[in-house]
Amino acid sequence: MSTNAEIFARREAAIPRGIGHSTPISAQRALNSEVWDVEGKRYVDFAGGIAVLNTGHCNPHVMAAVREQMERFTHTCFQVLLYEPYVTLAERLNKLAPIDGAVKTAFFTTGAEATENAIKMARAATGRAGVIAFTGGFHGRTALTMTMTGKVFPYKKGFGAALPEVWHVPFPAPQLDVTVEESLKYLGFMFKADIDPARVAAIIIEPVQGEGGFHQAPPELMRALRKICDENGIVLIADEVQTGYGRTGKMFAMEHYDVKPDLICVAKSLAGGFPLSGVIGKAAIMDAADPGGLGGTYAGNPLAVAAANAVLDVFEKDKLVDRANVIGERIVARLKKMQQRNDLLPMAAVRAVGAMIAFDIVKERGGEVPDAEMTKKVTQRATDEGLILLSCGTSFNTIRILVPLTAEDAIIDEGLDKLEIAMSA
Ligand code: PMP
Repeated sequence: MSTNAEIFARREAAIPRGIGHSTPISAQRALNSEVWDVEGKRYVDFAGGIAVLNTGHCNPHVMAAVREQMERFTHTCFQVLLYEPYVTLAERLNKLAPIDGAVKTAFFTTGAEATENAIKMARAATGRAGVIAFTGGFHGRTALTMTMTGKVFPYKKGFGAALPEVWHVPFPAPQLDVTVEESLKYLGFMFKADIDPARVAAIIIEPVQGEGGFHQAPPELMRALRKICDENGIVLIADEVQTGYGRTGKMFAMEHYDVKPDLICVAKSLAGGFPLSGVIGKAAIMDAADPGGLGGTYAGNPLAVAAANAVLDVFEKDKLVDRANVIGERIVARLKKMQQRNDLLPMAAVRAVGAMIAFDIVKERGGEVPDAEMTKKVTQRATDEGLILLSCGTSFNTIRILVPLTAEDAIIDEGLDKLEIAMSA
């Protein structure tokens, strides 16, 4: 059996460096919130494959559903032969999503495909091209979604001209030193200087920015965006690829607001580790594209769809939305205690929406200057301690916790013990 180092060396020779790595670990097997590497070392998983494993690694219910589907068929291409579980999943999501009126759902494979298709639908429905996104937002790595992503390094650097008709507004958050008023004022300037609102097809926003640092969009912002969209015939798209599916203590993060979006993008935890994404939205917008304009060879793959139906069953059966809130409170209480300790690195802005939990590492206690170098060290130390931990944020100094919602309290506490060691000053 090869070691982690041997596999990593082969990876470096065979695979481009543009595909980054947050750890040098090579996985051997995984179960719920634990992972074992090729050398037999065990890890507590606070990353969940970047928000994909809300139902845990190899959830038995999900695995059984996939096995059962695998025995029947693994692929037809939905555009060639349809299959009932795809239709059932769409019906279930249409009922669950916080969207008014008649709702339809289309499935794709990756998060980027979901956000890109949402824009295509909005453009087809409005006959307009303009897209407004937010600084620090992440929507994918394809040409259009990379343009919508509001972070230059590493997502845009070296990849040539951005696509036209995409504009960014500063995302408001205390840690980013931007208020809702400033954000909206900037949008107003943009409508005067750059693009007539009558030419804007869509505004796309993450209700809680994921890669951007776990900042929640304030309710006043969401309300104002809804109003601007209504007044100008613009489609409001919620990118719930990272927040989706119970992570924030509601099934959809948009349920935290008193306004509703027109389209919702989902992916990641939708299918518990199988590649599946979707756009859920108002039927009139979803139906604007002509037959053949949407889809993809693997879009809505039968194995992934079987997994996704099982994921919904697990959510209902195990009451995972409630569990997200319990996990969030447990972890935040511990992080707040850690924040008081002088023998640990200075922590700032402990925050959580349900179990979407983060804090910043700063240079001085009580200060705000980001410490990106130390943050990287903490994730490396965590790996040594047997904890898989991710960072994020526009200043690269945010530690985020995305532990599976099926994790037992004892495992969560063990992970936090390891985090404490990794955070020692
Ligand atoms: N939107 C958001 C909010 C995301 O967090 C991500 C992935 N981090 C994406 C879109 C893109 O998803 P994928 O990597 O599956 O293309």
